[in-house]
Order: sequence, then C-alpha cells, then structure tokens
Amino acid sequence: MEIIKVANAEEGGKKAFELIKTGMDNGAKTLGLATGSTPVTLYKEMTESDLDFSEMTSLNLDEYVGLGGNDAQSYRHFMNEQLFTKKPFKETFVPNGKAEDLAAECKHYEEIIDAHPIDIQILGIGQNGHIGFNEPGTPLDSLTHVVELTESTINANKRYFDKVEDVPTRAVSMGIGSILKGKKMILMAYGEAKADAIKGMIDGPVSVDLPASALQNHPDVVVIVDDAAASKL
Ligand code: PGA
Repeated sequence: MEIIKVANAEEGGKKAFELIKTGMDNGAKTLGLATGSTPVTLYKEMTESDLDFSEMTSLNLDEYVGLGGNDAQSYRHFMNEQLFTKKPFKETFVPNGKAEDLAAECKHYEEIIDAHPIDIQILGIGQNGHIGFNEPGTPLDSLTHVVELTESTINANKRYFDKVEDVPTRAVSMGIGSILKGKKMILMAYGEAKADAIKGMIDGPVSVDLPASALQNHPDVVVIVDDAAASKL
C-alpha cells in the first residue's frame, strides 16, 4: 500500500483528483464511487475541474434498502447532488434499494460490475473498518449482497436522518470480493475516529474482523490520510 499523508480533507480531495486525472489520461473509463462525508472534497474537485466525464461510467458501492433516488437520504440522491448533475457521466450505476427481489438485484449488480470492470475504486472506511457496507464478519471473497447494518454504522449515519429510527437497517452493498476486482484502489480517511481502523487495515492481520484489511491482498492501493487518521501508525 502506498500511503500519502495530507494536511486535511481538502488536500486529500486534490490528491485523489490528481490520481483520477492521471488514470483517465492513461485510459481509465470506469470509476467506482463512494458516499459519505469522506469523498465530498474529491467530488468538489471533480465538479470544479474542466475534466470531461461524459465518456466515463461509474458504479457506486452501495444503497440503503427501501430508499430510491427521490429520497433525500438515498445514496443515488447524494451522488446526483454531489456529482452527476454537475458533471454528467455516460452511465452511472447505484444498486436499486427499492428492488422487490433483492437477491436478484444483487446478482444483477454483480453482473454490471463484471460488464464494467472498475479502473479506479474510491473508498472511505468505517470506524469499524468496513468498506462499502461490508461490516466485520463479512467473508473477504463476498460478492454484492444484502447487509444488516451494525449499530455503530447506524449511529454513525444517523446524522443524515431526522431520527435514528429512520436510518434503514439494511443495504445492498458490493462485497469485499467485488471491490477487490477493481484495478486500483484509492482509500481516503480523515479524523481521529478513523485512526484505529487505518492502523488495523495497514498493520494488522488480514481478517474478517476488519474488512478493509483485505486491501493488503490487492496489488495497487493508495491510502490518503490526514495526520489524525494516521496518528496510530
Ligand atoms: P464517512 O463514512 O465518509 O461518512 O466517514 C465512511 C464509511 O463509513 O465508509
């Protein structure tokens, strides 16, 4: 893993943007995208740049079960607001959280991943080491699946909802195995709350107890961290 230390999330967003730009100069056509607060500075760089994404395809990591694009808390809505309405892509995929047959939706999404191999995968990390919504205990070779969110994730995400009871308890998420299919990984983490997860991801054993540790098995991972997130390394 290559570790890049930055002063803050703004600088991290710029670094990640440079890596994407270089990747696109070298032929990258498909981006794996993430939601949450971490990638916001990257999306700002992208929307403020003069880069053209109209020939690019994107695939998002996950979506809450029960929420669709018209729901303000859905990840489809987040992506539209942060990026897609400002920088049109050729095609954008987000799992359908409103699918009636969720098992079929998971299978379908994995087929989309295989049909559009991800050149650069953007990742955040949960305080418990999750990537996507792959909580501790998720098999490291898992494909797209329905996830029961842990209490810590529900609590971390309740800030986007009126009350904690409104936070969906399930999500459709690319699996750890699906994520690792991508050619290059860029994981960003800012703030002290991520320090333990970053330490475990880099220095700990590869273990289902810390899903991001599976990235140790990937040949091309860039980790962008601020001082606080790197403080336990
Ligand atoms: P955050 O979430 O970017 O909002 O901290 C990251 C994650 O849970 O993967």
